[in-house]
Amino acid sequence: MDPELIDDCVHCGFCLPSCPTYVLWGEEMDSPRGRIHLMKQHVEGTPLTDEMAGHFDACLGCMACVTACPSGVRYDRLIEQTRAEVEREHVREPADRALRELVFQLFPYPRRLRAMRLPLRLGAGLRRRLAPRLERINPSLAAMADLAPEPAGRVRLPRRVAAVGRRRAVVGMLTGCVQGAFFPQVNAATARVLAMEGCEVVIPPAQGCCGALPLHSGRPEQAVRFARRTVAAFERAGVDTVVVNAAGCGSTMKDYAEVFDGIGDGEWAGRARAVRTVDLAEYLAELGPAARRHPLPLKVAYHDACHLAHAQGVRSQPRELLAAVPGLELREIAESSICCGSAGTYNLFRPEAARELGDRKAERVLATGADLLVSANPGCTMQIASAIRRSGAAPIPVAHTAQVLDASLRGLGKIA
Ligand code: SF4
Ligand code: SF4
Repeated sequence: MDPELIDDCVHCGFCLPSCPTYVLWGEEMDSPRGRIHLMKQHVEGTPLTDEMAGHFDACLGCMACVTACPSGVRYDRLIEQTRAEVEREHVREPADRALRELVFQLFPYPRRLRAMRLPLRLGAGLRRRLAPRLERINPSLAAMADLAPEPAGRVRLPRRVAAVGRRRAVVGMLTGCVQGAFFPQVNAATARVLAMEGCEVVIPPAQGCCGALPLHSGRPEQAVRFARRTVAAFERAGVDTVVVNAAGCGSTMKDYAEVFDGIGDGEWAGRARAVRTVDLAEYLAELGPAARRHPLPLKVAYHDACHLAHAQGVRSQPRELLAAVPGLELREIAESSICCGSAGTYNLFRPEAARELGDRKAERVLATGADLLVSANPGCTMQIASAIRRSGAAPIPVAHTAQVLDASLRGLGKIA
C-alpha cells in the first residue's frame, strides 16, 4: 500500500454518509476513513488480522467515497492495493477459498460462462424455489441460483457491422464476459445503435475478459494478463477507440495505462493509452445524434451504476440520451449514489449485506412508479431485478440504455 496515498486522507469524514457499509452498520471501521486508518496501521507494521481483512472484504469498491472526498484521496488505488495484500497474506477459511476459486475460474472466461447457460435452462422458477434450501447450505450458492437471469436466446455478432448512411467513425466494441453470456441482446442493441448513428463497428471475436474481476479482487497478475490480451485484440482490429457498454469493464479499461505504469511496464502503458476506452452513453453524447428518434411512451427510472457514475463520472450523458427520446419520461431514483449491492462479485461473497442494499435500492426504484428500469451494468441489472422479485411487488422490466435507444431508433414502440 502506498503510504503517500494513505496520508492524503485528512480524516474529515465527508465521505461517511456516501459509504453504503457505513450507512448500513454505522461502524467507523466499515467507512472509508476507518478502512484507510486500518491500511495505515498495517503499513506501519500491524499484521493483517482476520478482523482487518473482514473490514476490507466488506468494502464494495463502489467508489462513492472517491466522488465524495474533497481531498482527492485515491481510495480506488488504495483498496486495489489492499485487496492484493489481503490475497497474499490472509488465510481464508476453506469454504471461502473454494467459493472464490470457483468464481475466478468461471466468471472471467466467456466460454465457461456460456456453458453455464445449459444448466440455467433448468428454469429460473425451479432455481429460485431451490434457493431457500441452498441458503441453509451456503448463502453464496443460493445467491448465484437466485441472481442468474433466464438465459437469452443465442445472438451471433458479426466481426464487423457497417455504418448506416454516411460513415462518421470506426469503433471497436467490447462484448464482455457476463454481458456476452447472459445479456447478448444488449450487445446486439449496442452494435445496431452505433451503426444507426453512423459508426462502423468492429467486434474482435477473441477478446476474452477485460480483467475487471481479478483487478477489483486482489489478483493483479491475472488482471494484467487479461489487460494485455484485450489491448492486443483491439490493436489487431485496427481501432483506436473501444466502446464499452458494461460499467465495470469500462472503468477497468480506462485504468489500464495506470495499472501498467504501476508495475513499471511503460511499453504496455503506452499501447493502452493509444486505444481509447469510452462508455457507450459517453460516446453517443459526444458524437451527437444523427438518426431519427421515434416515440417510446415510457416512464423510465435510470439507475447509476457505481462504476459508471463514481468511477467514470458518467451521469448526465445517459440521462440526456434517454430524455431525448420523444414520449419518454425520466424519473430519478432517491439515494441514486448508493450502491445496489451488486459490486462485481460482492453479492456472491457477501450475500447478506448485498441483499440489504438490494432491498433498499428496490424500494427506491419502485417508489418512482416507473414502468422500466434502465441500468448500464449487467451485475446491477441482475441484483436489482432479484431484489424487486424478493419484494413481492409487480416485476418491473430492466433494460440497458442501448436497448431503449435501439427501440426508439428502429421505431419499435416498445423495448424488444
Ligand atoms: S477519504 Fe476523503 S472525505 Fe473521507 S475522511 Fe479521508 S479526506 Fe475526508
Ligand atoms: S468503496 Fe464504497 S463501500 Fe468501500 S469505503 Fe468507499 S464508499 Fe465505502
